[in-house]
Amino acid sequence: MFNINNILRENIKNLTPYSSARDEYQGEASVFLDANENAYGSPLEQQFNRYPDPLQYQVKKRLSEIKGVPPRNIFLGNGSDEAIDILFRSFCNPGVDNVILVPPTYGMYKVSANINDVETRNVPLTAEFQLNMEGIAEAIDKNTKLIFICSPNNPTGNSIDRADVETLLTNFDGLVVVDEAYINFSRQKTFIQELTEYANLVVLQTLSKAWGLAGLRIGMAFASEEIIEVMNKVKPPYNINEASQQLALQALENIEQVNSWIKETLLQRDNLVLGLKDYDFVIDIYPSDANFILVKTTDANGIYNFLVEKGIIVRNRSKVELCEGCLRITVGTPNENKLLLATLQNFK
Ligand SMILES: *Cc1c(COP(=O)(O)O)cnc(C)c1O
Repeated sequence: MFNINNILRENIKNLTPYSSARDEYQGEASVFLDANENAYGSPLEQQFNRYPDPLQYQVKKRLSEIKGVPPRNIFLGNGSDEAIDILFRSFCNPGVDNVILVPPTYGMYKVSANINDVETRNVPLTAEFQLNMEGIAEAIDKNTKLIFICSPNNPTGNSIDRADVETLLTNFDGLVVVDEAYINFSRQKTFIQELTEYANLVVLQTLSKAWGLAGLRIGMAFASEEIIEVMNKVKPPYNINEASQQLALQALENIEQVNSWIKETLLQRDNLVLGLKDYDFVIDIYPSDANFILVKTTDANGIYNFLVEKGIIVRNRSKVELCEGCLRITVGTPNENKLLLATLQNFK
């Protein structure tokens, strides 16, 4: 049975978190002389002289309406990359604990593990880019704290079988982290609605992809209240700056714009697949639930360099295991996609 106290690091269990001036005073007041801010203002039209809300209540309230999850089950990070790092720092003892990764997958899990001196146990995906469930079961031991599942997966683009993720959630006593950075492009259901079912589920999403806000750096983690409380204790007190909070609130009023971009992206993705599949150098295009496609080619390096010369940058994934010969291509605007296809006409 999952019990957060069995996986929490001892130093985090005993941590007294930083208490900011605004944590200590909550209520109505008009004179704030408690935080050593500049009381005169900012040398800007917009005022940023006050510290931002450490728990980003307004943004969470709006996200809560959109996602159908109470604010107390939402953590906001400086990108989902920060949420990933905080999971390591909260639950993994450096030099002792381990996590399961299922490559090829998103690169930050391994980087974050390495920074935190946490062992990674790789259980590669099958040839169909699905979980090797037996391999995962064998790799788990008493020091395994986290399993990272990216679905839709980066860089392969496919979704991971839901039943397999549910099997892990039921049988694993650590946290199952389901990274849904690309969920808005997917036909699959989010795992957010399963939070009440599984105490060991953490769902990651981000405003960086479909929402078009990669520059604001806002990532979300959805989990039980007790997991969110731990993450809030460990995070830097003011991890989402005031400008990002204000702009995110504005952006979150614009769902229709985002939904129409998603529709257009999916149409463009289909066009790109149709356009690419006739080229001689294309061996395979993998089915995608995301805003990119993974294309297996006869000469990934040659095509990559050719495109760079023409000012078009794609991601060369040919050195990644199970991705030999593969380029990852993000779906662009209609003009960008047309230009890509036209340029590739001339690749010999
Ligand atoms: C792009 C991406 C992220 C996003 O990270 P942010 O820090 O929120 O920008 C997270 N996970 C995956 C799998 C990604 O591809």
